[in-house]
Amino acid sequence: MKHFEYLEPTTVAEACALLKQYDGEARVFAGGSSLSILLKQGFLQPEALINIKNIEALRSIEESPDGLVIGALVTHHDIEISDLLAERLPVLCELEHDVANIRVRNMATVGGNIASGEPLTDLPCVFIALDATVRIASASGERTLPLEEVFVDYYETQLKDDEVLTQVMLPSLPPHSAIDYVRFSSSSVVDKPCIGVAVRMSVEPGSGVCRAVRIGLGCVASTPMRARKAEALLEGGLLSDENLKAAAAAAAEECNPLSDLRGSERYKREMVRALVKRTVPKVYHEATAGQK
Ligand SMILES: Cc1cc2nc3c(=O)[nH]c(=O)nc-3n(C[C@H](O)[C@H](O)[C@H](O)COP(=O)(O)OP(=O)(O)OC[C@H]3O[C@@H](n4cnc5c(N)ncnc54)[C@H](O)[C@@H]3O)c2cc1C
Repeated sequence: MKHFEYLEPTTVAEACALLKQYDGEARVFAGGSSLSILLKQGFLQPEALINIKNIEALRSIEESPDGLVIGALVTHHDIEISDLLAERLPVLCELEHDVANIRVRNMATVGGNIASGEPLTDLPCVFIALDATVRIASASGERTLPLEEVFVDYYETQLKDDEVLTQVMLPSLPPHSAIDYVRFSSSSVVDKPCIGVAVRMSVEPGSGVCRAVRIGLGCVASTPMRARKAEALLEGGLLSDENLKAAAAAAAEECNPLSDLRGSERYKREMVRALVKRTVPKVYHEATAGQK
């Protein structure tokens, strides 16, 4: 590896000042699970690594008046064992059991999971189905973006060289909501996902009408995405065999998977169709359970 400076700021302001000082020649280093591979392979040769792991303010998972706030330095394992998330959004704890292995889960962070722009990830597609927004800091101030807009292309995000992603905000779900995530790995269970499908909706008591339908798809396009055509086929209607079938077919159509070692494009589209068809009724019934 090329020689680089190694810096350990303890505040976001300090990290941002260092990024500004290096003017595009420094890299944020969090868990290092992704970045260290790119450094060793020589794909990246920064002048400095700004290790943000000592910024305590970015380590918490907290409730806010609007929902939940997850700090960028929260690790996959922190999510896996969080009592607050187990109570509020158990789907996040459950999915983490299957992410990588315990060594990666202990080091790799939520911020890195998003900022790396890796296409084969789990959390981003669930966060998108939850209407997540992210807070981003730089020496010139802060901005907030819907998470979906952060992703641009394979390994490419809206984050600028001098910015630090600081928080993920998850708004409270409407009443009578449910969410589920299905992750499919085509090779081994410890492999990165081949397909991820997150479905969230609320169901109107009495009428049974589907509202706030979100279908997040992971690993089947250059970025995590919402299957908007599929959502529209379910939104505002009752769940029937016909609209379920149509929505599953629409999701398979609107994604854009690559053929690779994990499966052909056709196979992945077929899996998206099958997983959407399986997951939507489950979420619908969970959202309906307990209603009079
Ligand atoms: C063996 C292995 C298996 C994996 N399996 C899975 C899996 O099953 N599911 C899954 O979702 N992921 C998986 N991953 C990916 C991994 O979880 C993510 O890459 C990880 O979350 C990245 O976090 P990190 O803290 O290690 O990021 P780093 O490696 O430190 O950084 C990654 C990139 O993000 C930037 N960055 C990091 N944090 C910030 C921030 N706060 N603000 C701005 N930029 C930032 C860095 O500059 C760098 O460009 C796997 C990775 C490995 C190595």
